[in-house]
Amino acid sequence: MEAPHIYVERTLAIIKPDALHKAEEIEDIIQRSGFAILQKRRVHLTPEQASDFYAEHYGKLFFPSLVAYMSSGPIITLMIAKDKAISYWRELIGPTNTIKARQTHPECLRAIYGTDDQRNALHGSDSFSSAQREIRFFFPDCIVEPVATGQAAKDY
Ligand code: ADP
Ligand code: MG
Repeated sequence: MEAPHIYVERTLAIIKPDALHKAEEIEDIIQRSGFAILQKRRVHLTPEQASDFYAEHYGKLFFPSLVAYMSSGPIITLMIAKDKAISYWRELIGPTNTIKARQTHPECLRAIYGTDDQRNALHGSDSFSSAQREIRFFFPDCIVEPVATGQAAKDY
């Protein structure tokens, strides 16, 4: 008899170039927060790959500098799993803008490891469909089961 599969929600986390020197510390926090790290890749994106990843922001004022930032050095991409992983990881990293995050959520990871509204140290998928797309982007060989255990991610 085949063993039953237990599916746990997955999301994509990225340690961005500005936080790479803190990667070990951050991975430790991820695990202590109850996530399993299922996959991990260190990559240095080309500007084309960074544009592709952030295609939803194409045309915005900050797009060119976002692409330059995300291709400025290596990043670490992680497929992490936990019950309600998508919303929980977003909550843990906190608001997009580090300066505002420091005022409203001083304990969040972006407040601790980020610098400003762009260099905010960490990425997290914002919905189930983003998580699927983003996991496939970095881990094309991983089968992503269509399982969402949580609510829609919190938007800041
Ligand atoms: P999040 O990463 O919280 O989902 P967005 O999807 O809105 O935020 O933006 C993607 C990334 O683009 C942000 O994490 C940040 O690095 C950068 N960014 C967003 N808004 C700005 C802005 N107003 N100025 C500069 N960079 C920005
Ligand atoms: Mg986003």
